[in-house]
Amino acid sequence: MRTWRSELERLLLIVVIAAGVGLVFGELLLIVVLSLLIYTGFNLYQLQRLIRWLTKEPTEDQTEPPESFGIWGEIFDGIHRLQNQERKASAHLESIINKAQESSAALEIGVILINKKGNLDWWNLACEKLLGLQYPKDKNQSITNLIRDPRFAAYYHHEEYTNTLKITAPGDNTRMLEFQIALFGEHERLLIVRDITQLHRLETMRKDFVGNVSHELGTPITVIKGYLEAMVDNMQDLNSKWQNPLRQMHEQAIRMENIVKDLLTLSSLETETPVKEQDKINLIMLVSEIKHYTQQMFVDKSHNFIIDCAADLNFRGKRSEIYSALSNLIINAAKYTPAQGTITVSARKTKKSLEITVADTGVGIEQKHLPRLTERFYRVDSSRTTETGGTGLGLAIVKHILLRHHGDLVIESEYGKGSRFTCRLPRSRVIKPSTTRLISADEDNCITAASVD
Ligand code: ADP
Repeated sequence: MRTWRSELERLLLIVVIAAGVGLVFGELLLIVVLSLLIYTGFNLYQLQRLIRWLTKEPTEDQTEPPESFGIWGEIFDGIHRLQNQERKASAHLESIINKAQESSAALEIGVILINKKGNLDWWNLACEKLLGLQYPKDKNQSITNLIRDPRFAAYYHHEEYTNTLKITAPGDNTRMLEFQIALFGEHERLLIVRDITQLHRLETMRKDFVGNVSHELGTPITVIKGYLEAMVDNMQDLNSKWQNPLRQMHEQAIRMENIVKDLLTLSSLETETPVKEQDKINLIMLVSEIKHYTQQMFVDKSHNFIIDCAADLNFRGKRSEIYSALSNLIINAAKYTPAQGTITVSARKTKKSLEITVADTGVGIEQKHLPRLTERFYRVDSSRTTETGGTGLGLAIVKHILLRHHGDLVIESEYGKGSRFTCRLPRSRVIKPSTTRLISADEDNCITAASVD
């Protein structure tokens, strides 16, 4: 403001002096106009210096502003100050970017930035080793052209990136890579690539080991159990002091056989690829079958069994696996529900899924156990499990079966009151009822009670 005022004072002084000189020479107007023209010319000259300075390449000696005074001196100094600030800020940013690039180059994990068109923007050094990317050849190339596996394209376009994708490295079947995408900015993507070859090898070894051991144990256990069964059947021929130990040996042999069977089931669920063609499953028929079998197993408990789902509810899945999952849940419900308790199997369709729930009025489970229930051999109370003859593998099997059907298991429970195990399957598995049927208004929440007892 001060500079502005002194500039105005300077202009006034020029006009006054010019007027004085004009009066002396009798040419007032001419001299005033002349002096104003000189003043304007001076300003235009300063403007031209400014433009020349701003448009010059900033080399070492040219960064200094042109010498000037008054308002132009202020303008030059102000711009110079701003330039210095900006230079410092960009140097700071550059050092951050350099550090980020150096540290990302040291990473063993591959990081790729993909722009909103799906083309490669930037990647770190690890990607050159993991995916064979080359700079600058692959810059702006489409990611799906560089990684041609159709599973990658499906994962990339699906845009549901909660899970990772594990596939072999492009052009190298011996290496296994794990991909994870995160969306950011304006539909840009950050792709993380990890080499999991070693981990995958160990995992395969573990699965093979469990599978082989279970397979090898199968025959000896069957033989031992067979002899024990025969001995238990002819208990009267034996000395009475052996009767109790024999009964216990027989019980444990049955348990061992069940564990081996469950381990084999788990191992095949983990190693076999899910079949594409799936069976048409009628839920009510499947559940009725399991109910019948369970009631025979727990005949003393006289449970109140309710099946609450539409009679025409059909869906696609592997029948043997779905049977195994639901029977595990229903048998568990019967195991952990006291006599006269109620077991309810219900189904409902939501926008995204088909939910099949097995609920009981049994002993319930404390909240702290819920997150770990589907782990292998996890037991809430091992003495209770031994008592009920459980293997601790049932829920792990259920979880794997549902995963193979792109679903999941939701567990809710209230200690002392009962539990609810809900199998959520993708809604796309539901087979639409035949068109000849009358469609009810509340189709979406279809719980047409069809109690079978
Ligand atoms: P198990 O063969 O021991 O039943 P599971 O994997 O099927 O093994 O179940 C794991 C544990 O979860 C069981 O040991 C039991 O304590 C608990 N559990 C499972 N289902 C129920 C249920 N319906 N009510 C109460 N507890 C349950």
